[in-house]
Amino acid sequence: MWASVGCGGTGGSPPTLGPLDAASDGEEGAVSDVAADGPGSVDTGAQPDTGTAPVDSRVPPVDTGTPPVDTGAPPADTGTAPTDAPAGACPQVATLLDVSRGPGAGSGYPAPRLSGRCTDTSFIVESNNIPHYTFVRTTPNALVAREQRWEVPRNPREAERTTMIPRLGVVGFSVNGQPFFGPNEAAVPADSAWGDPIFNGITDGCLGHTAMEYHYHALSQRCLTPEALVATPWTRPEPARDRASPVLGYALDGFPVYGPYECADASCARVVEQQSGYERTGNPRTNAWDAYRWRDFGDATHLDACNGHRGPRGDYHYHATAGFPYILGCFRGTASGAGGMMMPPMGDGGTMMPPPGDGGMMMPPPGDGGMTGPRACTTNADCTGACPTGSRGCTCNMSPMGRICVPTCTSDADCPTTPMGALRCETMLRICVPRMGP
Ligand SMILES: [Zn+2]
Ligand SMILES: [Zn+2]
Repeated sequence: MWASVGCGGTGGSPPTLGPLDAASDGEEGAVSDVAADGPGSVDTGAQPDTGTAPVDSRVPPVDTGTPPVDTGAPPADTGTAPTDAPAGACPQVATLLDVSRGPGAGSGYPAPRLSGRCTDTSFIVESNNIPHYTFVRTTPNALVAREQRWEVPRNPREAERTTMIPRLGVVGFSVNGQPFFGPNEAAVPADSAWGDPIFNGITDGCLGHTAMEYHYHALSQRCLTPEALVATPWTRPEPARDRASPVLGYALDGFPVYGPYECADASCARVVEQQSGYERTGNPRTNAWDAYRWRDFGDATHLDACNGHRGPRGDYHYHATAGFPYILGCFRGTASGAGGMMMPPMGDGGTMMPPPGDGGMMMPPPGDGGMTGPRACTTNADCTGACPTGSRGCTCNMSPMGRICVPTCTSDADCPTTPMGALRCETMLRICVPRMGP
């Protein structure tokens, strides 16, 4: 089932195109350029996956039933790095990371796998849902491999009306082959049902966690570039604020999701940080969608209610932002099999979320704070010495993971860096919480 038709990559060996070979941090501009040109060119590189010798480009793609329009393109290098693949053929594929070059999730887990290809109308990505970096458990469910397949419009168009993103389930996928969800968690645990999982600090250093499957609730640029193919990408430096961000993922409507930084105009004399137009108006531990409200700032650096806009080149796209909704607020285009649904379609090889009330996230057993996660507690006395070295204090705090020991603070300087990443001070609550945003 992994026989895929590569637009430059091959099924057995994930695509390794230009951006992967870019010098450190040089990839942002290059990748932005590729993707900003947008899909739309003819499919010149579709090849059956043989996994061995270069194949004849005149062979039609396996599953489209439509022969490639242009057969003049050189066959892709089926070895390792098909850098000479036609960049215009399926530009989306060039934005995918070669996760086989990452160290993987850790011993005992299968190697991460990711491949992408285009048909005349679709961009298709398949993954085994295993992160390319060390798995750090922040919620009780185990990390398991799941065959994922996403098919999105290759030439996305803005729809007449926006549609809601699913309140549970897949909204899109990242360039390292992980699904991303919306900015709310499920119906459990009861004390923060439907709350904001980023605000509530239940994600790892790359802003993902396990429920029925590993997924993101926000996209971290530190974790999603070719330089991030390391064991602990969340310890890498923050991305440069003066360089345009690359594509970090795709929504199910086919529009790309860039990191937060973007050229202010076509000449790129200046780079700006795109920001969410949502403002916090309530408590994100309750229903996240009731805790934030979008407003029109009427300027070029605040995004629409879907968390996207038409950029300086005129193309529509989303941005991963530091604030809610972090990735998407709604679909601007027409999502394949997702628009307005509470659940992803079944039987499509994708993942089913558990029914509401199950919630997908089990509570941790007492005393089990996770392999490297915080210690479970019932009173403050249980937290003596339980917080990382350098903590100002340590208190027992209710969280979506149950009651756990967390460092106390009055300012960011009081918050240590943990195995899960840097923390910041939530001054309202006087506790340290994971740093939000890319
Ligand atoms: Zn989640
Ligand atoms: Zn933009």
